[in-house]
Amino acid sequence: MADILIIGGGTAGLTAAIYAARAGKTVTLLEKESTGGQIVYSPRIENYPGLPGISGADYAAALTEQAESFGATIEYAQALSIDRDGAGDRDGFVVRCDTGDFTAKALIIAAGTSHRHLGVAGEEELTGRGVSYCAVCDGAFYAGGDVAVLGGGNTALTDALFLAGICSHVTVIHRRDVLRGEAALVERLRQRENVSFMLSAAVTGLRASDDGLTGVVVRDLRSGGETLLPVSGLFIAIGQNPETDIYRGLVDADESGYLRAGEDCVTSLPGVFAAGDCRTKAVRQLTTAAADGAAAALAACRYVDGLAP
Ligand code: NAP
Repeated sequence: MADILIIGGGTAGLTAAIYAARAGKTVTLLEKESTGGQIVYSPRIENYPGLPGISGADYAAALTEQAESFGATIEYAQALSIDRDGAGDRDGFVVRCDTGDFTAKALIIAAGTSHRHLGVAGEEELTGRGVSYCAVCDGAFYAGGDVAVLGGGNTALTDALFLAGICSHVTVIHRRDVLRGEAALVERLRQRENVSFMLSAAVTGLRASDDGLTGVVVRDLRSGGETLLPVSGLFIAIGQNPETDIYRGLVDADESGYLRAGEDCVTSLPGVFAAGDCRTKAVRQLTTAAADGAAAALAACRYVDGLAP
């Protein structure tokens, strides 16, 4: 049995692993895909203190190496369900995974979020054939072509900036007349000659040929009129959903599925902590994920040492 089991190998989980392992605890971190989380797909991180301009992939590799250097064990496994490992309050937990079971005295859930889907007809069938949720992963397939980005948050804006560098034209489509993302990103996009905006607009349909996407139907939300925008790629960046389905019966969650916990990362169940983007919080950034990792690890260490209820 490990002292602390961490579910999720993004910034929050890996930071928790660093803090808990460095504090002398035995730590196992479960990751279902590859460590680093969604930041792996960011070409350039500009707002992480002390690391200006580092790529997401380099940042994730360094963080993973740092966690392992302190003795944390990384297991590539997908958590499927969680049980108590006995009848007693402090008997620990069993995490049942696709590769087997893992046990620990305390759990840190740092499961992150996944891309929200639009729900328009043809979206699933055209994913990989014109519809994408990751500009850095798929943008090169559309080099030289015309593409659209849907959304007004920082992900949409950074996706549009990245695509503007390799595509002929990028149209940013957003449902409101004001973009939600950072002003600095908006300004940089406005300076690009090959970027235009369709504001107060929604994507209501997809058009395709046998080869994939050929255009998107865009509705002007003020007039109700619809136009066909000819694009070969639609990058959907309309936010995230928490990856918390399997935890919602275990600990309290809000109506959107975010696990309820304060800045101490303490959940409704003693011995279980929530860290990073899957926790109820106002600001979801790398810096706040790292802060959560530290707070959750130190709280879990106190729990394992019997110093906290
Ligand atoms: P987000 O901030 O939640 O933005 C989602 C955008 O999609 C919003 O503009 C929203 O519109 C729109 N939207 C939501 N549902 C929609 C729907 N059904 N149809 C059409 N549009 C819809 O999500 P995000 O951009 O993925 O960012 C997530 C978090 O990561 C944020 O905290 C963000 O700051 C952070 N992040 C930071 C950076 C950075 O470099 N600093 C980069 C990427 C992400 P409304 O505006 O009308 O709500």
